[in-house]
Amino acid sequence: MTIRFENGIVATLGSENRVLWNSTVVTDGENVAAIGDAGEMAKRYPDAEVVDCAGKIILPGFICTHHHFYSTMARGMAPPGEPASNFVEVLERLWWKLDYALHEEDVLLSAQIPLIECIRNGTTTVIDHHASPSYRDGSLDLIESAVREAGLRASLCYEVSDRNVPGAGIAENERFIKKVGKGDGQIAAMMGFHASFTVSDETVEKCVGIANDAGVGCHIHVAEDMADREDSLAKYGVPTVNRLHNLGLSGEQSIFVHCVHIDESEMDILADTNTIVVHNPESNMNNAVGVTKVLKMLDKGVLVGLGTDGMASDMLSQMRVAYLLHRLDNLDPRVAFMEAPQLLLQNNAEIAERQFGLRMGEIAEGRPADLAIMDYHPPTPLSEANFLGHFIFGLTDAAVDTTVCRGEILMKNKEILSLDEERIAARSRELAPEMWKRL
Ligand SMILES: [Zn+2]
Repeated sequence: MTIRFENGIVATLGSENRVLWNSTVVTDGENVAAIGDAGEMAKRYPDAEVVDCAGKIILPGFICTHHHFYSTMARGMAPPGEPASNFVEVLERLWWKLDYALHEEDVLLSAQIPLIECIRNGTTTVIDHHASPSYRDGSLDLIESAVREAGLRASLCYEVSDRNVPGAGIAENERFIKKVGKGDGQIAAMMGFHASFTVSDETVEKCVGIANDAGVGCHIHVAEDMADREDSLAKYGVPTVNRLHNLGLSGEQSIFVHCVHIDESEMDILADTNTIVVHNPESNMNNAVGVTKVLKMLDKGVLVGLGTDGMASDMLSQMRVAYLLHRLDNLDPRVAFMEAPQLLLQNNAEIAERQFGLRMGEIAEGRPADLAIMDYHPPTPLSEANFLGHFIFGLTDAAVDTTVCRGEILMKNKEILSLDEERIAARSRELAPEMWKRL
């Protein structure tokens, strides 16, 4: 199907961002066919379906490079027992109880709700990290079906850990990786691990072998809290990144999430091996674990992207939090204006390309037809030269009106078309209290 997204402001992003007023993006099937002056595009594509984008800005769909769909039902839950006073207690008292309590339908609903929120926020591609020990085998297929029904793109993995049963989750990853192979552009697979401090050398070696045979990357939390660093130093005599690198986990397809408590020599390993780091500022602030030295890593040439760690599906708010956090952390109002948008707009596109084999994050002929169309009347002139000012201070408060992924309109005039939001939320409200009781 050919669609003209007509007469909006188009920000192409990509390596040379262009801001084009009164312009139209034409999509044909899963890709962008043309971009240009609205009048000219109407003449060239007279038979296309038309979506009026007056008063709106058309951007490439956003990418989230670390999410946990399964955390959905924690919302509004009273955590069991005494409040956690540190990160390990947060895991033991909340997340490891919650993931254990998830049954089959909880897993499905827990995915569908953030997928709806991704559509609402113009997030069209997600790299997810899943855990549900009581409904493990087949869990990735269930999430895959939810992603396909929603119409979004996702890379999926199961977090292997030895915390309940040694090597739990290896078989689920292996099965899913073999099934998905190199992926079809909509679904991709990775080898997932919880974190260094919950996996033995034996487990890691087994997983790395499977990942290498299939040519996929590994997705693991790294030094999120000081406890992970101390565990690695005490048990293996080296810091976390060194340990994982020695075990073969590093590499250009692998994602090391957080990297809050790493030193400069570990950053050098990440840069030398072209390993991906994903920064999750809202989550780090919420868990009070510390501040990732993102600017230093970027200086060293590490590819750092931006995720939400299950906190949200809104990438613009995450980007603005990164901007504010690193200004404050560096006590320098000159920094992060370029870097925070870079994490989201350029680096996440590069990370997604390594997982999906597709160049997203840019509106250009032949590129994937993934769009976030937002209500925006710029109150000051808007061009390529000052786009980031509008991006950080204006678009973060603008509403996404229409979301397109793979050329399909998933939300129009703020109405979700691919999933029944009311029914799914109602069913989740029924099941969540039962799940909470199982904690
Ligand atoms: Zn995470």
